[in-house]
Amino acid sequence: MPDSSLQPTQTSSPKIAIIGGGLTGLFTATLLERAFSQINDKQNDNKSLLPQITIFEKSRSVGRLATRYRTDSHTNKNWQWAFGAQFFTAKSASFQQFIKPWLKTDLLQPWCAQVVNLIPINANNQTPDIQPKEQWSSIQARYISTPKMTSWGRALADELQHTTINFKTRVAPLAQYNQTLANKASRKTNKKTELFDEEGNSLGSFDWVICTAPNAQAVELMADRGFAEQTKITESQMQACYTLMLGWDDKQPLPEALSCQEMAWDVAYVQNSILDRIFIEHQKPAHNELLPSITIDARNDWSEQHVDADIDTVKAQLLVAAKQALGWNADSMPSQVDCHRWRYAATITNANKDELGVLVDNEKQWIVSGDWCGQGNIESCYQMATQAVARICAHSLISAD
Ligand SMILES: Cc1cc2nc3c(=O)[nH]c(=O)nc-3n(C[C@H](O)[C@H](O)[C@H](O)COP(=O)(O)OP(=O)(O)OC[C@H]3O[C@@H](n4cnc5c(N)ncnc54)[C@H](O)[C@@H]3O)c2cc1C
Repeated sequence: MPDSSLQPTQTSSPKIAIIGGGLTGLFTATLLERAFSQINDKQNDNKSLLPQITIFEKSRSVGRLATRYRTDSHTNKNWQWAFGAQFFTAKSASFQQFIKPWLKTDLLQPWCAQVVNLIPINANNQTPDIQPKEQWSSIQARYISTPKMTSWGRALADELQHTTINFKTRVAPLAQYNQTLANKASRKTNKKTELFDEEGNSLGSFDWVICTAPNAQAVELMADRGFAEQTKITESQMQACYTLMLGWDDKQPLPEALSCQEMAWDVAYVQNSILDRIFIEHQKPAHNELLPSITIDARNDWSEQHVDADIDTVKAQLLVAAKQALGWNADSMPSQVDCHRWRYAATITNANKDELGVLVDNEKQWIVSGDWCGQGNIESCYQMATQAVARICAHSLISAD
C-alpha cells in the first residue's frame, strides 16, 4: 500500500493496461483501484487521480479458473467439473485479510477434504487400495469458490469500478512511442505504449502495461522490444496438465473406490499411475445438488511429454488409468467423459531458488507478472499483484519533503 507521506508525480489519471483476465489480472486491477483510492483520500486538493484500467483477455472467461457443466435432460440436474484450479491456500496474513469479504458471503468456503493415497488395481491388487493421508482443516485451510470455481473471478470482475474488461481481445506484441505532452510549459516527454490486437487495430495508448500471460506467451509479447528483463521471462518453466472429467447418472451404481464404506474420501493422491489427483466434485461444500462428478488431473510430467498428442488418444489412455484407479465395471462405468488439455498449467518450482517476483522495466513502464513469477498457484497471483501495484505506486509518487 502507498506511503501516506508521498504525493503524486502525475496530474492526470494514469492509464493502465493489463494483458490477461486471469486471477493475477483481476487481483492487480482490484488492488490498483484500492491503492489509488487511498491516495485520493489523503489528498485535500480535490484533484482526483483515479486510474483508468483496461483488462484485455483473449478468451471468453477468467483464465485458468474453469468450470464445465452439463445438464441431464431426465433429471434436470447438473454434472459440474472444476477442470482448472481445484482449490487454493491462503498462508499469508495479507491474503487471508483480502479473502475475508468473500468468506463472509460464503462465496469462498473452506474445504475440509478427507484426503487419501490410492493405489490402482494392478497385478497384485484386485481392487483399488485406499489409505488415509490427511484431513484438510480450517486451520491450514484450502478454499474453494462456490457455486463454481469461476464464481470468484466473476465477482472480482463485477466489483471493479474503474476497470473495463475486453474479452475475446488478443493483444499483439508491444510497441512504444514517446509523446510530448500538450502542456508546453512542462514540455515533459511521456512514455506511452500503444497496444494493438492481432488484426492491427489500435487498443489505445497506456502509461503502464502489465502482462500477466503464462511465460511462454509473455516472452512472445515482449520479444525484440528491448524489455529490460526479457531473459528472465524464460527462467521459470511451466508444464502441461490434462484433466479428465467423469460423470455418472443418478440411478447408476458408482465404482468400487467411490462407494467404499470403510474409507470415505474427497481427494485422492494416485500412486504408480499417470494420474496425479482425483477430486470428488459433488462432495465439495455447496455442491451436493450435483450428479456424481469427478475431476482427475494427469501428472504434469506425463502431460508435458504428451502435450502435442492427439487428444482422443490421450483421453483413451487416461480412461484406462482412471478405470484402474476407481475400479468400475460395465454397470458402473461413467456415462459422461470429457478431457481438456492445459498447455501451460503448472510452474516447476525449485526449492533452492528464489522466486523471480514481478519483472519491471521502469523506463518503458512495463511489468511482466503472473503466477509463474511466484510459486505457480493462486496465492502467488495475489503476491505478484501486490508487487506490481507497489511498483506502480512507487513510480507514480514523489516525496512530499
Ligand atoms: C489443471 C490445473 C489445476 C490447478 N490446480 C490448482 C490448485 O489446486 N491450487 C492453486 O492454487 N492453483 C492451481 N492451479 C494454478 C492456478 O490455476 C493458477 O495459478 C492461476 O489460475 C494463474 O492465474 P494467472 O492470472 O496468473 O494466469 P492465467 O489464469 O493463465 O491468466 C492469464 C490470462 O492471459 C490471457 N492471455 C494470454 N495471452 C494473451 C494475449 N496476447 N492477449 C490477451 N490475453 C492473453 C490468457 O487467456 C489467460 O486468461 C491449477 C492450474 C491448472 C491448469
